[in-house]
Amino acid sequence: MKKIYLDYAATTPVDLAVLAAMQPYFAEKYGNAGSLHGLGQEAIAAIDKARGVIAKVIDAEFDEIIFTGSATEANNLALRGTIESLLNLAKRISVKPEFQQIEKFSRDLPFGRNTIEIHRPKIIVSSIEHESVLETARDLEKEGLKVVYLPVDKNGVVDLERLKNSLDERTILVSVMCANNEIGTIEPIAEISKIIKDFNHEILFHTDAVQALQYLDCNVNKLGVDLMTLSAHKIYGPKGIGALYIRNGVKDKITPVITGGGQEFGFRSGTENVPSIVGFAEAVKIVVAKREVEKKRVGELKDHFWTELKKIYPKAEINGGLPARAGGPARASEPALPNILNIYFPNQSSEDLLIKFDMAGIAVSSGSACSARSTKPSHVLSALGLPPEKVKSSMRFSFGRSTTKEEVQDTLERMKTII
Ligand code: PLP
Repeated sequence: MKKIYLDYAATTPVDLAVLAAMQPYFAEKYGNAGSLHGLGQEAIAAIDKARGVIAKVIDAEFDEIIFTGSATEANNLALRGTIESLLNLAKRISVKPEFQQIEKFSRDLPFGRNTIEIHRPKIIVSSIEHESVLETARDLEKEGLKVVYLPVDKNGVVDLERLKNSLDERTILVSVMCANNEIGTIEPIAEISKIIKDFNHEILFHTDAVQALQYLDCNVNKLGVDLMTLSAHKIYGPKGIGALYIRNGVKDKITPVITGGGQEFGFRSGTENVPSIVGFAEAVKIVVAKREVEKKRVGELKDHFWTELKKIYPKAEINGGLPARAGGPARASEPALPNILNIYFPNQSSEDLLIKFDMAGIAVSSGSACSARSTKPSHVLSALGLPPEKVKSSMRFSFGRSTTKEEVQDTLERMKTII
């Protein structure tokens, strides 16, 4: 039986052109980018070239791209780095006027433990962020930071009124993802940026664009973000390489989480992973070149799948991913990402379904596969306001570059017996 992979939001296969671009940097051009000899020069040149490619695609400056070991690490750097920087700043004797509040906070109670509510710095994150943002926020909360978890509507779009009401003089960072990995909802990032910056342009705005880069224009200036997280393995690049865009001008507000040899402009020490960095850039190039065509093609597959699925299983419902203000589009592919479809199957258990799908040769997901093989109920579906029985009966289908109409058709056929 032919295997069908419908879990591209979890990870993607490495594109063969990406693999070919990486290949020479393992055993042939293996220099350490920190070395001054020829091999080292070759490595740093490759990294510089890759950095330039990625910077250009998101309309950033060359030195605004920081390579990390994953998007998880980039998200950690964005959140922890901001807090650390603030605390360092607060510890200095002379502080800028806008940080006087924080100076007081630091003087009274260093590192935020047991802080008095009024002095606690605050960050705002959406309640449907990836675990690498949410768990980091929770961890910082334990350290005394105030965290606001922004609610979303039934389609997964963040509550902008709540955002407006949550911003105050203590707010130092807001993090809202570009597009969600479980339901595909696209967040109004430019609108959110305007709300934040109109309130106080000193507040940092971070977005996790890991799932978005493949299908959306992630221009940091159009979106108005200060920090942006990217990952290679969601876009047919290698696993274990990510990047954080840090806008020039806010760099003094970010302190490295990993210290050492001072690589990556001092923001991320550790010998650079040259093959993966080269592969990341190659993957970005290909994904951007194919973006519009793939967006349309994959979107049509998703629409077809949903239309036909409804015929087999009329009670199925789409979770999230519909337009916020319109109450739902005619087409399943807008305005969510074209590749992700999260479906509720009444009276079915997603764990059982997952096994049945697997036995039928179809790889899908019962939620976010990025959370270490866990089958815990999805926090994203819960945040949509779905009751637990719906959360436990939902599956994520995600399509990709190799998905064909025949495969979709074949999946639907096999599903007739599964459900
Ligand atoms: N952010 C989002 C939206 C994701 O979907 C993922 C996927 O795992 C991550 C972050 C983490 O990426 P990485 O696997 O590179 O750490």
